[in-house]
Amino acid sequence: MPTPSKKKTNNTDKIDSEMRSLEKEIRDHQYFYYLENSPRITDKEFDKIFQKLKKLEEKYPDLASPNSPTKLVGSDLSETSDFAKFKHKIPVLSLENTYNTKELVDWIQKTAPEDIYSIEWKIDGASIVLYYEDGILKNAVTRGSGGTGDDVTENIKTIQSIPHRLEEKVNLYVRGEVFMNFSDFEEFNEDFGGKYANPRNLTAGSIKHKYASEVAKRPLCIFTYDAFFPDGRGKIITNKLSLEYIKKLGLPVAPDTSFTTLDKIEKTIEKLRKKKDSMPFPIDGLVIKMDDLKKRDALGETAHSPRWARAFKFDALFQESTIEEIIPQIGRTGKVTPRARIKPVQLAGTTVTYATLHNQDYINQLGVGIGARVSISKRGEIIPAVEEVLEPGLHGVFQLPTKCPFCSTKLEKVDESVDLFCTNKKCPERERHSLLFFCQKKQMDIDGLGEKQINLFYSKGWVKNIADLYELKKYEDEMETMEGFGKKSVAIILKGIEESKKKDLRLLLPALGLNEVGHKVTEVLIEAGYENIDAILELANSKNAEEELNAIHGIGPRTTVAIIEQFQDKEVLGLIKRLKKLGLNFQANASEKSDHTPFDGQSWCVTGSFEKFQPRDRAMDIITRHGGRKVSSISSKTTHLLYGEGAGSKLEKAKDLGIELVTEEEFLKILQRESIPL
Ligand SMILES: [Zn+2]
Repeated sequence: MPTPSKKKTNNTDKIDSEMRSLEKEIRDHQYFYYLENSPRITDKEFDKIFQKLKKLEEKYPDLASPNSPTKLVGSDLSETSDFAKFKHKIPVLSLENTYNTKELVDWIQKTAPEDIYSIEWKIDGASIVLYYEDGILKNAVTRGSGGTGDDVTENIKTIQSIPHRLEEKVNLYVRGEVFMNFSDFEEFNEDFGGKYANPRNLTAGSIKHKYASEVAKRPLCIFTYDAFFPDGRGKIITNKLSLEYIKKLGLPVAPDTSFTTLDKIEKTIEKLRKKKDSMPFPIDGLVIKMDDLKKRDALGETAHSPRWARAFKFDALFQESTIEEIIPQIGRTGKVTPRARIKPVQLAGTTVTYATLHNQDYINQLGVGIGARVSISKRGEIIPAVEEVLEPGLHGVFQLPTKCPFCSTKLEKVDESVDLFCTNKKCPERERHSLLFFCQKKQMDIDGLGEKQINLFYSKGWVKNIADLYELKKYEDEMETMEGFGKKSVAIILKGIEESKKKDLRLLLPALGLNEVGHKVTEVLIEAGYENIDAILELANSKNAEEELNAIHGIGPRTTVAIIEQFQDKEVLGLIKRLKKLGLNFQANASEKSDHTPFDGQSWCVTGSFEKFQPRDRAMDIITRHGGRKVSSISSKTTHLLYGEGAGSKLEKAKDLGIELVTEEEFLKILQRESIPL
């Protein structure tokens, strides 16, 4: 049994947190200095912080990070993408899969039919092992291969919910899965122009990112499971006790784990299968484990996987098919995505005819080409992917064209991206996708204008860009005579377009599809007092633009550059000017203030999704109308967090900071009590 000595003092806690915050500060400044070439403080100021941390490290060597920025020369920063290798102290195995309850029941009957088994969610993220010594997180290591992983401790330490120090001074190794909630992923990905394919890819990329300061901005979460006790596990004789124990130590544990016997296992699985789709995080199945740890030891493991556990996949998530054609798609941002047309197959309840191949690197890795026999997977996200080549085709490995198939511009890699881009802003395919994006449900949500209609109007040359939509009325007569377009449907489209003029800056600006200017950044700008497009343009074109943008909380250096560049761009300015003339609303609508102000002096933040408040800003409007303040991110100044289904990192952070947490139900009660109508 690990000794339950609680020797921690408040003082060490304080020093620990001061050192972590100094580390972060130094890293951020190193980043600005060496990589952005734009220092934010003088060398003298920097040196002061640096020396302060160094002194603390000398005085408290136990609390010093192994990869402290004091041990790095700043100019080495750009070369630290190779992580130190770490040989695991425990076997880090993967699980053998079962695809239906029969396979699972067979396994249990062969293994130990009388036993208790735990059933846990199998989270679809990136596997990690946390090594705690004397209660302090010493190493966080990826699974890697052959028993050796990458030491990504500094990156993992940025995850809010991971304790750097446990509640007890114990030696403990624990496995975990780093992941991203769907809502966090969508929000984050939106601000990056939809660059990432799914939460798993973004998570895996994030934990191996070069700069911890960048990782810190990403909404990563973790659940831990399987604990190993190098000093012996004492009274912890079951998985159930082990999970309870690590939870008590402050480690996050996934919800819904149940303990059951063979006769009830199918029922439990059915229950979880029904629940799966409403969970906020990506799940790729269940894990069924023998609960008795001693029996686990007795069973041991094969070279690849433990004999005491199985993964359970809900549906057959893989199918075989043949690649018939590979088509390079050009998106709104110019990004090229090779898409494979495959021989149609049934997968997880739908007919799949296309699967993504991500980029040329991915194609090369797989060695995939036309005619290849492949396995297709669908893992949580909507777009299926080609996973593996079963038999190569006769045409060799596919090569993306060197020129854009739509405008012949030479395709090139932008920044450090693995993707190719068509950089021609006037590329017809990019224009078409920009139009589709603008009208989307998540953006301007224009009634009657779907992909089919837009494609048709585009091919007729009626609309080339967003502004043209608002002049579509001149084709009204011609439209009415077209097949499939009656008077009625034309009226709906024109009315939808007209109505959309009323939508305010909050919807209009992100819908323009500018790089890095999504809903979140727009909201941050509005909150900072830039409530209309003129104010934003003035800011971006002012002498101190960079300084002022950087000073806004929630806007990073990359967003700053993107805002300045784009709002100085002639094309963008021309489009905005035209849209203004056409009567679009580039002003953030202020909500009328009420005299009844029960939320006076409070700062509210909102996260997750709600039943009564869609979009969730409706709830925030009520708060601001009645005296409260709305903020887009959690800080020590936030007083309340209204959270709904799918709440992610904001909820974690709010818990950490002791901010008052309010559910939708509780919020409705407050409104009722204050006689505030919905
Ligand atoms: Zn092009």
